[in-house]
Amino acid sequence: MTDRRVVILLGPPGAGKGTQAVRLSEGLGLPHVSTGDLFRENLSKSTELGLRAKGFMESGKLVPDELVLEMLFDRVSKPDCAEGYLLDGFPRTIPQAEALDARLVGEKTVALLLEVDDSLIVGRAAGRLLCKSCGNIQHLEFSPPAKEGVCDQCGGELHRRKDDEPDVVRERLVVYHEQTAPLVGFYENKGLLRRVKGDQSPDAVYADLLKNLEGAV
Ligand code: AMP
Repeated sequence: MTDRRVVILLGPPGAGKGTQAVRLSEGLGLPHVSTGDLFRENLSKSTELGLRAKGFMESGKLVPDELVLEMLFDRVSKPDCAEGYLLDGFPRTIPQAEALDARLVGEKTVALLLEVDDSLIVGRAAGRLLCKSCGNIQHLEFSPPAKEGVCDQCGGELHRRKDDEPDVVRERLVVYHEQTAPLVGFYENKGLLRRVKGDQSPDAVYADLLKNLEGAV
């Protein structure tokens, strides 16, 4: 065992992983590593990686494992991840989970599953707003901006993610059940899974996450 901590957030699209990851990252003092954010950053800079990922992202499909793994391992090799990191949106397939596992060398690891029923997902995603400048996540219902279209945090422009359109979200949900849901069993078999009800207020979800982290990492 090392003192390094690896916290994995699992759950369907729109379950609140991004929102909770920001709070947990602060609370635990671990960098927030979101593969979705890394891809969006690459896309906005039109890097080769961003352009290769674009079509998959826009259609709600997963970006091929080899692209994800290279980007992720590069990110977690940075000095700020020396004490550990918080993963949001990774792993999303069994080969990704196995690749992460092969890289870990006795880190204290936990996988937190945010459980939200499919029937709530499309509606939740439809209300989600993302800041173009700082990446802050707000929501029309759960955290409405004080001024329409303006980020409460930095005053930047809020927009809807293209892949939060209902048709794309439905596709992302299918992909989640086919390719990502098997990770629940993967981490359960290792005794690392903790389940949290995601259909509560963000504060209540956060409190449950902290409770589940006690003694785990
Ligand atoms: P997210 O912000 O986590 O919902 O990710 C947005 C999109 O980026 C996903 O729908 C995928 O197309 C892509 N993506 C993010 N993380 C991964 C991953 N671990 N594996 C494959 N594709 C990913």
